[in-house]
Amino acid sequence: MMAHIGIVGAGLAGAGAAYALRDTDHDVTILEKSRGVGGRAATRRKDGCRYDHGANYVKLPDDRTGDLVRDLGEDGLVDIAEPVWTFGADGEIAPGDGADEHKYTWEAGITQFAKRLLAETDAEVRKTTRAESIARGKAAGRDGGADTWTVTDTDGAEHGPFDALLLTPPAPQTADLLAATEWSGEEGEDALAALRTAVDGVEFRTVRTLVLHYPFELDVPWYGLVDVDKAHEIGWLSREECKRGHVPDGESLLIVQMSPEWSTEHYDDPLDEAADAAATRAADLVGDDRLTDPDWVDDQGWRYALPNEGLVGDTDDGSTAGADGDGVADAVATAREAGLFPAGDWVAGRGRVAAALWNGIDAGESIAERL
Ligand SMILES: Cc1cc2nc3c(=O)[nH]c(=O)nc-3n(C[C@H](O)[C@H](O)[C@H](O)COP(=O)(O)OP(=O)(O)OC[C@H]3O[C@@H](n4cnc5c(N)ncnc54)[C@H](O)[C@@H]3O)c2cc1C
Repeated sequence: MMAHIGIVGAGLAGAGAAYALRDTDHDVTILEKSRGVGGRAATRRKDGCRYDHGANYVKLPDDRTGDLVRDLGEDGLVDIAEPVWTFGADGEIAPGDGADEHKYTWEAGITQFAKRLLAETDAEVRKTTRAESIARGKAAGRDGGADTWTVTDTDGAEHGPFDALLLTPPAPQTADLLAATEWSGEEGEDALAALRTAVDGVEFRTVRTLVLHYPFELDVPWYGLVDVDKAHEIGWLSREECKRGHVPDGESLLIVQMSPEWSTEHYDDPLDEAADAAATRAADLVGDDRLTDPDWVDDQGWRYALPNEGLVGDTDDGSTAGADGDGVADAVATAREAGLFPAGDWVAGRGRVAAALWNGIDAGESIAERL
């Protein structure tokens, strides 16, 4: 039977789920609030430059990710050759251990990942469509009234009914959607309340990215610098010109990701002030006074940049988050049974492009099995 599947969010989790469903008969609709796809794996263009202002690159941590990326086409794939070096609280730069894994993006930017996945599917992507509320109900005239999900967007338009619905916005935004979800009946209300509490408990940290452009090249051996002590006001700094096709010769474009503490405190500072602060600190860190004076700047605030933990108690360091792992697992299972699937990097417990992708693919495969 052909089923209708709704996906909220066209980041890597949403695109991965649509990709997993590509060979089924199911009809897939993606609702995406932005004008483009890719979510936090985002790319922008300005003054002849292209830059990835969210995720910087994707690592291919296992064969399946490498195989998938190559299956999507090797043309335009960029392997960043220069290494990542480190610095600490004192701002002292040191070479890395030389064991960097390969880091990939595309000449046309990291948004290519989601674009290429979606190009393999028949999914319809409804852009500039922000999901606001969700309701479970009987679809009239379908299989004697099967239970389905309907999504209403912020313009009041209805989408669906869907036999299964995947929610991929960062946890705080998914929690808002669950708070605006109607699922009547005792089982539904209980599962919804438990799921919402669990999703609410997944914290994200904030990162403000400053983009600094210079009309000259930097003569340094590294692609990126990472703060290993997590004590500096800059968390990460990298050179977009190390990515083929991103920056014209003779220019430099720095991506400066400020620390979560700095980013939270200065989230709403005007761009010129925030860029000034980032440029001053970048000049100091790199040891090059010219960096205090970029010829143009840009920025992006990522309020929900990276998850601190996972939904079902998984954390990066293997410890258990949340008080009631079993209760959360039960609530997720009940919701999935009813066709409501949370997915994304925060469900996987790791703020990484590949983690989001495979979490979405797994959810898509579960939906295909279930329907
Ligand atoms: C600054 C920064 C640097 C990073 N660096 C790296 C890196 O170098 N390497 C790496 O692997 N990972 C990195 N990450 C993490 C990586 O970007 C994420 O883990 C991954 O992209 C998450 O994908 P996702 O599909 O789970 O979520 P998202 O990409 O956030 O996708 C969710 C989508 O849902 C949409 N949405 C939200 N609410 C609604 C709504 N109500 N209605 C409709 N649509 C909605 C959003 O617009 C978005 O497109 C970085 C992240 C940030 C922010």
